[in-house]
Amino acid sequence: MKPLIVANWKMNPQTLREAKQLFDLVKIGVKNIKKAEKVICPPFLFLSNIQHLKSNIKLGAQNVFWEKEGAYTGEISPLMLKDAGCEYVIVGHSERRGYFKETDEMISKKLKAVLKEKLTPILCIGETKEQRNKGETDRILKKQIETALEKVSSSKFSKIIIAYEPIWAIGTGKPCDVEEAQKIGLLIRKIVLRFYGGKSAKNVQVLYGGSVNSKNAAGYIKEAGLQGLLVGGASLKAKEFVKIVKTVS
Ligand code: PEP
Repeated sequence: MKPLIVANWKMNPQTLREAKQLFDLVKIGVKNIKKAEKVICPPFLFLSNIQHLKSNIKLGAQNVFWEKEGAYTGEISPLMLKDAGCEYVIVGHSERRGYFKETDEMISKKLKAVLKEKLTPILCIGETKEQRNKGETDRILKKQIETALEKVSSSKFSKIIIAYEPIWAIGTGKPCDVEEAQKIGLLIRKIVLRFYGGKSAKNVQVLYGGSVNSKNAAGYIKEAGLQGLLVGGASLKAKEFVKIVKTVS
């Protein structure tokens, strides 16, 4: 399986011109890299424009609403994302959980809506520094997975990607070390095993995200045995992001 490298641009850059420029630089840099799957998740507003810049990079969204259509001011539906060229949707990012009070139950609704539209959800899970220090990581991750996947069948589960994004590592410059990421990867597979059996536990794609850069990226794939990366800050520097893609492929 090719490693999946996902860029989460968050609320950046500020203009379409800059977004196109960044996309173009990455597009040129990864043009000949076939051994990794590349996904860029720009802000919603830039999706439709970027869709037309032909490349071997897939598009994803950073968020979605669970309803199909209607009076939900300010929200974006799964079908709108599909129409704008998205194949992937990040759900449950810790910034959405934190700043916008998204609960595991809301995330579960979003995940199901994304699956219904045949898009691929990237379910983000992760514990805070405090929870980690109290030894609660296993319990927190289990609850996040269990609630988000409630009533998701095993055939639907096969379409889901899980991203381990410890909150204490995101944007801090202090990434999770490779051994710990490997341990968490196995824990996630153990949780999946209990709900969906051995085949699903073996096949599920687990990504790591949190202060990934071109120096630490390869370790998560080649040593920790994970299947991809979710990259925030470093994805805004074209050269650095291209380097990340190169080191894992
Ligand atoms: C993220 O927020 O998804 C993320 C991984 O951010 P960063 O790489 O900046 O830590």
